[in-house]
Amino acid sequence: MTKSAPTKTGSTKTTCPYCGVGCGVSAQRATGRQAVIAGDDTHPANYGRLCSKGSMLGETIGMEKRLLHPVHRGKRIGWCEALDEMARRFSDTIERHGPDAVAFYVSGQLLTEDYYVANKLMKGFIGSGNIDTNSRLCMSSAVAGHKRAFGEDVVPGCYEDFEEADLVVLVGSNTAWCHPILYRRLLEAKEKRGTRIVVIDPRRTATCDDADLHLAVSPGADLALFNTLFCELHARGAADTAFVSAHTEGLDDALAMAATGRGSLASAAGACGLDENDLETFIRWFAETERTVTLFSQGINQSEKGVDQVNAIINCHLLTGRVGRPGMGPFSMTGQPNAMGGREVGGLAGQLAAHLEFSGEACDLLSRFWGTDRLTTKPGRKAVDMFDAMADGKIKAVWIMATNPAVSLPDSNRVRAALERCEFVVLSDCVEGTDTAIYADMLLPAAAWGEKNGTVTNSERRISRQRAFLDRPGEARPDWWMVSELARRMGFADAFSYDGPADIFREHAALSAFENNGSRVFDIGALAGLSEEDYDALQPVQWPIRRNAAGSARLFGLGEFPTATGRAKFVGTPVSASSPDRNFPLVLNSGRIRDQWHTMTRTGLSVTLSANELEPFVEIHPDDARARNIGDGHLVRLETEQGQAVARARIAPGQRRGSLFMPIHWSDMNSAAGAVGRLVHPLTDPVSGQPAFKNTNVRLGPLEPVWHAFFLTRTEIATAGFGYWTRRRIEAGYLYELAGLSDGERSPEMDALAGPPLEGDEVIEMRDDTLGSLRTARLNQGRLMSCLMLSGNGRLPSRDWLAGLFASGVLDDEMRRALLSGQSASGKPQGPVVCACMGVRADTIVDAIAEHALTNVKEVGECTGAGTNCGSCRADIRKLIDERQREEAA
Ligand code: SF4
Repeated sequence: MTKSAPTKTGSTKTTCPYCGVGCGVSAQRATGRQAVIAGDDTHPANYGRLCSKGSMLGETIGMEKRLLHPVHRGKRIGWCEALDEMARRFSDTIERHGPDAVAFYVSGQLLTEDYYVANKLMKGFIGSGNIDTNSRLCMSSAVAGHKRAFGEDVVPGCYEDFEEADLVVLVGSNTAWCHPILYRRLLEAKEKRGTRIVVIDPRRTATCDDADLHLAVSPGADLALFNTLFCELHARGAADTAFVSAHTEGLDDALAMAATGRGSLASAAGACGLDENDLETFIRWFAETERTVTLFSQGINQSEKGVDQVNAIINCHLLTGRVGRPGMGPFSMTGQPNAMGGREVGGLAGQLAAHLEFSGEACDLLSRFWGTDRLTTKPGRKAVDMFDAMADGKIKAVWIMATNPAVSLPDSNRVRAALERCEFVVLSDCVEGTDTAIYADMLLPAAAWGEKNGTVTNSERRISRQRAFLDRPGEARPDWWMVSELARRMGFADAFSYDGPADIFREHAALSAFENNGSRVFDIGALAGLSEEDYDALQPVQWPIRRNAAGSARLFGLGEFPTATGRAKFVGTPVSASSPDRNFPLVLNSGRIRDQWHTMTRTGLSVTLSANELEPFVEIHPDDARARNIGDGHLVRLETEQGQAVARARIAPGQRRGSLFMPIHWSDMNSAAGAVGRLVHPLTDPVSGQPAFKNTNVRLGPLEPVWHAFFLTRTEIATAGFGYWTRRRIEAGYLYELAGLSDGERSPEMDALAGPPLEGDEVIEMRDDTLGSLRTARLNQGRLMSCLMLSGNGRLPSRDWLAGLFASGVLDDEMRRALLSGQSASGKPQGPVVCACMGVRADTIVDAIAEHALTNVKEVGECTGAGTNCGSCRADIRKLIDERQREEAA
């Protein structure tokens, strides 16, 4: 382990707060709350690169929407009062109903130190297992799969494996968008060594553009596919028999289960919805390629058979002996920046701290280490179950930390009802006004990224420091402090007398080594004695980091596993049939888009990141759209047994017939009905409790709005009464997309959103009653203040040029003349931002392609800069090249 002081150049080295790649960030303070953000070129996850989301962190650290003070039932109060009230309510509830009547619902956004104290308080001193995390939604199936196969929740590989592999299989992962920097490393390796890439995903994503083979597997058929691979590898003699006999157990049973009902390769291909030749190619490549990595992510984990799917993948790697050696292994990619850190400290309800299980021995060990006789000896409720218990009145007080379950949990109407019923809801967050905040009795202002100190662990087990470089505004406080203060007031002061995150980290590290003796792989005992200075200077380091022993980037390569027998386990993974639902004939999948993060409470503040997608949308196969008379850009309604949503149709030939895709990011904060969580069924995996977000039965139908409009304004407007609305940030203002879904709804014209002129205002207007159109703009001292474009037939001008006028200051004569036409005097549309990192719009790329006869993404990058940073826009650039080539050929 090496340590060094933080940079002497005035910048602070920290870690990106978004995805599980865990990129190092260099933040240079500028004036006020501004900072210049760059990739940390010394960080081993990213070596200086950042994706669009990381690059735009500087646009999200201002004061907009910050929660600054504790608030109790709408009234600002002081910290002492807030914490006293919390202690009273939690203590009373425990006294009257027992410890299981309270819960903490925490987040992969928390730092390890925050997580550690929250888990210690709930499991160790309140005496309930009721702490669970939103990481339950993203990778708990991987956790359970690892434990079943390896005996402990351990990712055996590292990012370098993607550079040393000859075959990389990406399953249920749009890596190009969701983990762009790791993907970029993979593409560079492909260029150097010709790595083959196979993508397994029901829909054609941006990741498929670079794939040598895309297997558009039927939704839910991943298990059948990997069972087929497992059987075929065995039948074709691809097993590493020496490894299997020396280091594994359970092969015969697992094989028998995988082979149940097995027919020909053609029938297996049919069952998976694949072409037989493609399936054969995949099996052959996997069989013949020693250096194979299989990355799996939410597409595998978010299923009611997620854990079995994880084990089916691991079975193939165990059979071929490809685990924990350079360029090979199963690799679980986590969604959040500190999902792994949460796993280390027992943030999941079914796990104790430091990877200890709920055994008598482990409970004894932990009780002695923490000095408590109140430790719970049984697991608590997992996320969905926890909110069900609130709905049933069993959980009466909950503290939600740094997450937005009213949007992100499945069946979110029920979640909202549960929060409504819960007697005492506390929410600590750095932003105000989230969908969850509506239900909170107590709001606590948390420190945000850039203001917090602590550690996070990324997907390759690498612990990195998050360091503060901004002052905490208002009364914002770190989460660990809030938890410790509550613990003190509940009578546990001695166990929570921390003087800072380093103090907590030392205890966490010491616990990992306490009576460990090699029985648990998670051991960071070498860090237990860090001084404050050492902690401040801690360099990114992968666990295990045992005392007096070197750490390791890879694990299990020698065939030693932390199971009772020391052998890895093949796990039988039976396939069960599911039947279609005639009332809801389509299957809804949900996931991330390129430039947004979770419920957009932070990335939604960035003008640059908001420029790529205007509205919640649903991708539909052309045949499914045609059958329902739905055209590209139409508004549609989606309905499930759980609820409804309205979104803009996007006709996508890359969708499978019968499948839809909707992004997860929209909420009631920024749309009328774009929250996909209202649609998703509450089914969970029976082992992991992870919700099955990927396959909700749904029906779809067109809407026929009576009017369409968009409204540009410098200030937010109230949206109640609009049938359809969405809002996004633009430079110096907001863009609202609006539509009237039925007569009698609020209309921007009726409502006079453009408003009566105020003093000094100038209103210009163009109206055509026969077409039902109205175009009106308000200027003040020559500056555009607001602009409404309304149409009865949906024909509206481009938003980009008008939106750009908000940042232009005083409009010149030409701009004023062109204003109500909605386009510049040249008539040339700008098009949306394609490359968020470099700020390159579609029109610039299209012009460059035409002018310089560019034929590939690399040439476009050399000419315009687009796609040269994180590369997650490469697929969009390629589409523009293809469109141009099609136009030329026509
Ligand atoms: Fe952040 Fe992007 Fe790196 Fe993920 S890939 S950690 S979002 S910069």
